[in-house]
Amino acid sequence: MGPLEIIKSIPDKFQSALDSVDLRLFPSEIRKVEDCGVEFEICLCPALQEKLGPRADGGKTRDASCAVAVEKPNPFLPPYSPNLYVGDLALKDEEGTSEYVVLFNKFPVVPHHFLLVTKEFRSQSSPLLPSDLIQTYQLLLAARQENKHLLAYYNCGPYSGASQSHKHVQFIEVASSGPPIEKLTRMAKLEVSGKPFAIPSLPYANHIYRLPTLSTDSTPEELHRTLFPPFLSLLDLVISTVRHDPEYPSGLPSYNVIMTLEHIHMIPRRHETHTPEGTEAVINVNSLGYAGMLLAKSDSELEAIKKVGPGKILRGVGVESVHDLQVAGASLEADGL
Ligand code: AMP
Ligand code: AMP
Repeated sequence: MGPLEIIKSIPDKFQSALDSVDLRLFPSEIRKVEDCGVEFEICLCPALQEKLGPRADGGKTRDASCAVAVEKPNPFLPPYSPNLYVGDLALKDEEGTSEYVVLFNKFPVVPHHFLLVTKEFRSQSSPLLPSDLIQTYQLLLAARQENKHLLAYYNCGPYSGASQSHKHVQFIEVASSGPPIEKLTRMAKLEVSGKPFAIPSLPYANHIYRLPTLSTDSTPEELHRTLFPPFLSLLDLVISTVRHDPEYPSGLPSYNVIMTLEHIHMIPRRHETHTPEGTEAVINVNSLGYAGMLLAKSDSELEAIKKVGPGKILRGVGVESVHDLQVAGASLEADGL
């Protein structure tokens, strides 16, 4: 199938999946909370508590009776559940052919939530490759052709909020104005285009790149040239940011990636969850939190988020910004010092 066929087939296939026992849509309500210049949409979903299972543990779960690590089957390798399977995609570019499968999220909170999964096992802790980015943007562009607005996100590494270790980019539908963070991002006036920037009013390290307008008939080569150098420059900044934290664990950094047709955001992560001071709530954050869409699995979690404000929670699981140092460092470099 091609990206447009995939996008066109989503509504009917999602309905069939819902009618089967393979997919369960958890009912939720949206509560708005204003903080740091962003109108956060807090998704209150108490039903998710029933599903609480092992998380971000590299696909391993603990068997309490014998305290031995037990391998869980990888749900992103065949055989795929037929009701969750949307289609195969093959991307041909100058580096060869990359194969993907599109699957519905088995436990969605919003309708039509789907995943772009590598056909072969690749690690969720590894950066997106050019082919992953090209395939992601072909899906975002195909959705735009169908007058739909998608947000793509990638939770990378053990502190990013990921629960599956097989590489997957996720897609959800958002309003035509984009996710809540986009309003603030669009307001950023850039002195020079073609360079990463940060929003200094946000209380956590954030690295953003504004994309030029992408045409729906861009070739893979054009998408490669437009997307991959910006992605690498953001990744360099994430690595530089975590290096300023003397306590950051060694090894590959964790970070969240949010992708729209307008911007790529990359946010370094230090913790998977945050417990706001004076509460017992354990707030789990993934990329969607940084898009302005936090998840509360109970009223007490919602109250805790409201009490301290989403900004503090995002700072709690993120990293301190060293943007000023990075800008100063870049200008010294430009001056040859
Ligand atoms: P993440 O938690 O960011 O790693 O995203 C993985 C997503 O896969 C989660 O949102 C889960 O709801 C979803 N998921 C878990 N098991 C399955 C499965 N068997 N098929 C499809 N999606 C799944
Ligand atoms: P989790 O328990 O974090 O794996 O999240 C449960 C399900 O909700 C997964 O399918 C997530 O991808 C999805 N999810 C997490 N946060 C949000 C959000 N703010 N809005 C919509 N869906 C979400």
